[in-house]
Amino acid sequence: MAGIVVGESDLSHQILGDILPLRDIFAGLFFVSVGMLVDPWFVLRNLPLLLVTLVLIVLAKGALVTLLSALLGTSARTAVLTGAILAQSAEFSFLLASVGAELGAVSPTVFSLMLAGAAASIVLLPGVYRVSLPLAAWLQSRSPATPSVEVHGAPSEPELQGHVVICGYGRVGQVIGSALQSRSSFIVIEEDPRRVLQLRDQGVSVIQGNAAIPAVLERAGLARAQALIVAIPDPVAVRQIVDYARQHHPPLPVIARTHSEDERRFLLGRGAEEVVLGEHELALEMAHHALALVNVNAAEAQGAIHQLRGQVGAEESERSRPRRLRPPQVRVPEEVE
Ligand code: AMP
Repeated sequence: MAGIVVGESDLSHQILGDILPLRDIFAGLFFVSVGMLVDPWFVLRNLPLLLVTLVLIVLAKGALVTLLSALLGTSARTAVLTGAILAQSAEFSFLLASVGAELGAVSPTVFSLMLAGAAASIVLLPGVYRVSLPLAAWLQSRSPATPSVEVHGAPSEPELQGHVVICGYGRVGQVIGSALQSRSSFIVIEEDPRRVLQLRDQGVSVIQGNAAIPAVLERAGLARAQALIVAIPDPVAVRQIVDYARQHHPPLPVIARTHSEDERRFLLGRGAEEVVLGEHELALEMAHHALALVNVNAAEAQGAIHQLRGQVGAEESERSRPRRLRPPQVRVPEEVE
């Protein structure tokens, strides 16, 4: 109940960030305790029985979850991966087994078997997942792309032409959207349902979903787009989007947001046209204000900022880059998180 309440609040990300280290400690403690409960001599004496238990947990449970997932309407790939990830016996089974043992419903032998089978299934999980990946990829290649995304107020795909795709419509994406308003058509990909509803009310074309998923990106009509703007803070998703755009739509210019110089270099190396380092733009803007406060005249201040910006440009030109856009006209200072 507490989790649901916290998850719905605006502080959910903050709270999650605060408790994540604790979660990892408890998870470690849990798995170590489970491992210590397993009796190795019991395992050796009852190997065939343990194998049967493992088959039941991994194969039967995996198949059941895959089936249920498919019945709930997920793609074959998602169903197989869900089955593979849940093809193990986790903490709830330990709880049930110990309650059963206490009540005398589960004999000590069966209890030990359940413990050993559960521990072995957890150990096997990475292997099972790895084996399921090619199967999932094969299934995906055989099924037509059916993106599970919701399009609010978006024009139907043939209408999208020469538009800009903005991934993420938070503090950064909104400024870009405002700049583009009445100058170019654009479509937003945003994963926060509350924000999607707000955008729909404002009449903005929006696709709800994770922009790092190719099917979601394609829904925005990348093939006919004029530019792709990746305004999300998650570096892993940014990499995935830039890589996808480069591989599947090489002529499409990509502007990406980042928070670290290393990441910036990496993304430029991967073929993004422009990668804006938020903190650097923030520093330039603050330096501009600082120069004004110490009575440096506007032209000199502009020159100093231009020079500072040029230093970064010079560093970039040393690195091999496929293409460059014009220097950005809209600077987006953002808070240091
Ligand atoms: P801000 O940091 O304020 O610019 O907000 C970033 C925005 O990007 C938020 O509205 C997030 O919901 C959104 N966002 C973050 N990751 C993704 C993603 N993978 N796909 C789509 N939207 C995202």
